[in-house]
Amino acid sequence: HRYDIEGLKSRIDGIKTEDNPALVRQKSRDFFWYSPTLKRQLENVTGDILVSPASESEVLRVLAAAYELGIPVTPRGTGTGNYGQAMPLSGGVVLDMSGMDKVKEIGPGRLVAEPGAMLAKIDRQTRPHSGQELRLFPSTYATASLGGFIAGGSGGVGSIRWGGLRDAGNVLSLKVATMEASPRVLTLTGDDLHKVAHAYGTNGIITEVSVPLAPAYTWVDVIVGFDTLAAAAAYANALGEQDGLLLKELAVIAAPVPHDVFLRHQKFLPREKHIAVVMVAEHALDATLAFTRRFAGAEVLFRQDVMSPEELRGLPPAFELAWNHTTLRALRIDPSITYLQTLYPFPNQLDLVEKTRERFGDEVMAHLEFVRFDGKITCFGLPLVRFTSEERLDEIIRIHEDMGVPVFNPHRYTLEEGGMKQTDAVQLAFKREADPRGLLNPGKMIAWENPDYDYTSGKTYLFPGLADRA
Ligand code: FAD
Repeated sequence: HRYDIEGLKSRIDGIKTEDNPALVRQKSRDFFWYSPTLKRQLENVTGDILVSPASESEVLRVLAAAYELGIPVTPRGTGTGNYGQAMPLSGGVVLDMSGMDKVKEIGPGRLVAEPGAMLAKIDRQTRPHSGQELRLFPSTYATASLGGFIAGGSGGVGSIRWGGLRDAGNVLSLKVATMEASPRVLTLTGDDLHKVAHAYGTNGIITEVSVPLAPAYTWVDVIVGFDTLAAAAAYANALGEQDGLLLKELAVIAAPVPHDVFLRHQKFLPREKHIAVVMVAEHALDATLAFTRRFAGAEVLFRQDVMSPEELRGLPPAFELAWNHTTLRALRIDPSITYLQTLYPFPNQLDLVEKTRERFGDEVMAHLEFVRFDGKITCFGLPLVRFTSEERLDEIIRIHEDMGVPVFNPHRYTLEEGGMKQTDAVQLAFKREADPRGLLNPGKMIAWENPDYDYTSGKTYLFPGLADRA
């Protein structure tokens, strides 16, 4: 070992640990292999020990001991991130938060939970308790943790109504443990939440989360088909703008992807149809169908409400056709597929979607996720890309950006390259305060390693501490 793991173990006696290399390696991975670039770079990354605290006080003991011994600590929820966020680039401790999974309090419009609580399990408690549910969740609802979503995710199912995680009010408060000689627990609210939200666990360990709840509805899956991508996108945009229709999910996927990759729904999806995937509250279904009839050429291909339990058996929920589940299903059919994350800024979103289609043809297949963004309906994209080389992928990204379509690059493991390509001064300042030795999830925040890094260089950042054990 590069680190004094025995010394660590003796200091955290009584806390659950695992150092079988095969098991540690398994818990040192996430869905990084979605990206051919990350697959190449991170394949051999592994921690030295898995530590599974059961309480906040155990988290503090682990952080104090690892601080003293100079051992890196990388937190992990359930490891469903897509960019190696939870992968320990310099080895050390993988801090498995999944055992801290208690729902502590459910009140009108809000929830308090431990960070390891899984999203679907939370709703299984809030629904019977008081007819409430989470507002927002990633399409990995069934397996992802609440803390991992806040530290590593951005939005998803529910964003058509509530916007993204970064929007004010979508996280209410966080308790965060610092990594110092005597770790502290800080409570963050309001704008201070940005210090650690979407910081990949680089500047604090979240030990408690409070998020808002919404009334729980029965959601009905509907799929509508169109002859052109432009018609499907225009419909989705107009549907999203209907303030009286309560929607939970609204995506558009270009033909022939739906037929080719949604195998369980295949019989409903003619190969030439571009589709809109909609989740609508039961009470708004009639009005949604009436609105849909206003669109010439719109054809309802699938309605969950008219199907028998036998017909529905084995069909995934509509949201598991959306967000990065679309990518996952495509990858399973064709491993040479990869993807991008794009934003088509308001008010030109439909125009930009069409221009992108014209520019790339079949090399970049549209997958749009309609969201409410600062009060306006627009769309993000998770387009599927036929991968040929890393150079061509970078070129495709550059062309998008030149066209006015920002790309949040999912082929980079750093916060900055995957985000705004600039230093986040708030997160960096908080890291100086909360992690003075730079031991939390090393290598993910370029600004910490290299404050003068030139984001315009066009080069990929390579973390010098990346332990290559190939
Ligand atoms: P992990 O992957 O375990 O961790 C994520 C990050 O959070 C890591 O940097 C980790 O170090 C950090 N972290 C975890 N716990 C803590 C803690 N307690 N304190 C501090 N830091 C912590 N994401 C979306 O936003 N929207 C989507 O719709 C979406 N769809 C997806 C679909 C598929 C098929 C896949 C594979 C991924 C998808 N993702 C999506 C990405 C991911 O599933 C979500 O962001 C998920 O919420 C991450 O939760 P997790 O528990 O798996 O986190």
